[in-house]
Amino acid sequence: MNPSGELQELNVPQRVLLGPGPSDVDPRVLRSMSTPLLGHLDPEFLRIMDRSRAMLQALFGTNNRLTLAMSGTGSAGMETCLVNLLEPGDRIVVGVNGVFGTRLCEVARRCGAEVVAIEAPWGQVLEPEPFQKALAEKRTKAVAVVHAETSTGVLQPLEAIARSARAADALMIADTVTSLGGTAVALDEWGVDAAYSGTQKCLSCPPGLSPVSFGERAAAALAARKHKVQSWYLDLSLIQEYWGSARSYHHTAPISMLYALHEALRVCLEEGLPARFARHVRLSRALAAGLEALGLQLFADPNHRAPMLTTVRIPEGVDDATLRGRLLSEFGIEIGGGLGPVKGKIWRIGLMGYACRWPNVAALLGALGTLLSQSGHRCEAGAALAAAHAALDA
Ligand SMILES: *Cc1c(COP(=O)(O)O)cnc(C)c1O
Repeated sequence: MNPSGELQELNVPQRVLLGPGPSDVDPRVLRSMSTPLLGHLDPEFLRIMDRSRAMLQALFGTNNRLTLAMSGTGSAGMETCLVNLLEPGDRIVVGVNGVFGTRLCEVARRCGAEVVAIEAPWGQVLEPEPFQKALAEKRTKAVAVVHAETSTGVLQPLEAIARSARAADALMIADTVTSLGGTAVALDEWGVDAAYSGTQKCLSCPPGLSPVSFGERAAAALAARKHKVQSWYLDLSLIQEYWGSARSYHHTAPISMLYALHEALRVCLEEGLPARFARHVRLSRALAAGLEALGLQLFADPNHRAPMLTTVRIPEGVDDATLRGRLLSEFGIEIGGGLGPVKGKIWRIGLMGYACRWPNVAALLGALGTLLSQSGHRCEAGAALAAAHAALDA
């Protein structure tokens, strides 16, 4: 009756998602998505949005009124910040030490901006001095930097660069897609004017929303624009009318995704942010100890490792695609490969939100140790597990 199989039901294998995102979704979040719909202007739904905004403010470390969730994945948040703050001819200074800095440059160019890239080697942090120098050269509208660079596993300090931006009267924009919910983000304390994130990394939600927060200086820049925002869909001056008191229709809110975000934020705050961040640090240290005990070399600068994403060099003689394929098909575990210049050279292991648990670390180290030994790399899975377990309480 159904020879080509198009009526076959969904039947997905069970996986453990330890890549750079999406990460495993918390079962509470999945359940929340089967809640019956409310209309997007139903007073009860508007209350859910208000509560989500308050919880997002807590995660972002801000009192910014203009804090909301854009419809779309993390890249939509990136585009939201740039299209709303940049006008043709504006100058922006962008930190580039991985894929997402490169993407920021690409989006900024499409806004008609003059883009100045400040580069650092992949796996290293950006230093503040080159930003100060670039800002001193010419009037600059904005500076944009990635907080947790998911292509390299580097956690970038933002405060010094934000201070330089503020001193030069430029807006500071931060990509917190991978960091939000996994490590401290403090927009107000650091002087970050605009930030965006995504739901599918440390918030343990499916991909589909992008939390965004604009401070007063960013909101003022938006209000003072000479040209209309070139994207109608991402125009915050329109969308803030829906999230704000006017409640006027712009586009239909993705109701079920907003339920998911609401539940995910509750999960974060119930655990307590300090406890949540400490869990990410503790388990990433255990993972690092285990990987080193397997004779592997970590990739990112040891002083600036992102706790939710560990990068490790692929040992000599081991084929990237074959090993990751076997990890997935034989052990049900997904990790990420390298991008761009580090493709085939590193693996990216995410321990994000709900997935950041000891049993996942143990399963991954056991599987990796077994597969690496079989591919001719001398190591012992048992010893790696013991090293990781010991590091848990170090
Ligand atoms: C994943 C990611 C993005 C892009 O998010 P999408 O959800 O893939 O659109 C942007 N920046 C960083 C740092 C990321 O990790």
